[in-house]
Amino acid sequence: MSYGWLVSNPIFNTYEAIEFNGDSLGEIIESSCPCGYHREFCRGGGMQNFTTVDMEPAYCPHCREMVIVNNLDRRPMCPICGWEVIFYNDPSLFSDQDVGTYVWRDFELPSEKCLCPKCGNMTLRFSVVGMFD
Ligand SMILES: [Zn+2]
Ligand SMILES: [Zn+2]
Repeated sequence: MSYGWLVSNPIFNTYEAIEFNGDSLGEIIESSCPCGYHREFCRGGGMQNFTTVDMEPAYCPHCREMVIVNNLDRRPMCPICGWEVIFYNDPSLFSDQDVGTYVWRDFELPSEKCLCPKCGNMTLRFSVVGMFD
């Protein structure tokens, strides 16, 4: 059994998942925007549930809020209102295909130029600030 791990690739400005046998299965992500929006959340899954759970950030067009939703759900929906959500790996939620990405399993999270739920500009950044298990 193997788990995703991140390694920086300075040549291509991307993060690639490499095979890693360890305990840490998820990442702590910080999202921030110049408008003042700031939120930290955990992505990925834990030791007990990583085959069925991959929590990833998504946008709910109804709540106009970022929500953390299981990407492996058959029908991912907003935990607040039940609307269908758009995950932040969807091209409609970021403005630049060439920014680096943080990969967990097969989910590529752009590092910047994403839709900010507060101000509505493509100025939201994501950064990995830690790991959890
Ligand atoms: Zn909602
Ligand atoms: Zn903003």
